Amino acid sequence: MEDFFDSVKAGFVSHAYIFLGCEEATYGKAKIFAKTVNCENSELAPCGFCKNCRMISSGTHPDFIEISAIGSSIKIDQVRSLIQIFAGMPVEASMRICVIREAHTMTPEAQNALLKTLEDPPTRSAVVLLTDNLKMLLPTIISRCQVLDFGSGMAGGSSISPDMRKMMAEMVLHAIKNPGFEPGAGVNQVTGIREDSEKLLDFLASLYRDILAVKTKSGANLINGDLADIIGQCAEKISAKSAAKMLESILYQNGAAKSKGNQNLIWYNIFLKLREVV
Ligand SMILES: [Zn+2]
Repeated sequence: MEDFFDSVKAGFVSHAYIFLGCEEATYGKAKIFAKTVNCENSELAPCGFCKNCRMISSGTHPDFIEISAIGSSIKIDQVRSLIQIFAGMPVEASMRICVIREAHTMTPEAQNALLKTLEDPPTRSAVVLLTDNLKMLLPTIISRCQVLDFGSGMAGGSSISPDMRKMMAEMVLHAIKNPGFEPGAGVNQVTGIREDSEKLLDFLASLYRDILAVKTKSGANLINGDLADIIGQCAEKISAKSAAKMLESILYQNGAAKSKGNQNLIWYNIFLKLREVV
């Protein structure tokens, strides 16, 4: 995909893109794109040290705007506010970049609102839609964007970010260590994060598979080798039988998530089970 950034550097910039791939990778590419377009050292772009590059990196640039799902979706009001910003002139940069993270979570109304802007884009703004699920975007939206596939290669076999993996693992450890852990609190924590339940449950399943691997001293490589410390601590607290029961329950709930079951109920059952098996 280096060709793409070369062509951007050469000044070929369109007004609407879809960056296809996992959130972590595409978000990184969106920042590189914004820096390449706005870098003050055009020959080195993105140099990484000019004011524009640094502010985009740190997420403080007034012309690098992003929106993401509130709860499980991006609402029409969020898109409307974005369109307003999108239409105005950039404050400091030569081009304003608006990023829509997990663009597939836009409601149909939100997508329709965005569509109007894509039909008649302002000259000094570009919108970048990040998604790993093209099917959820209106065909009319897709047709107005340049689609770039950054692959959905997942680091460490996991489709959620390292931070989120660590957070989930720590939540499991916390629940295991605290018998009085309230399932409702876990539900709130999980449903408050921007990630779909299937991916989180996939990760949880891999985590319990690892706990089981440690418990049974199977010598198998851990899927989540980077979380070996937390996995070890979990393994100290629960029996192999409990870990197996938990894994079975996670896989069962994952089936429910795939058939679009009630998210709150799915997670409530998970946390209830977590407490039960300790
Ligand atoms: Zn720069």
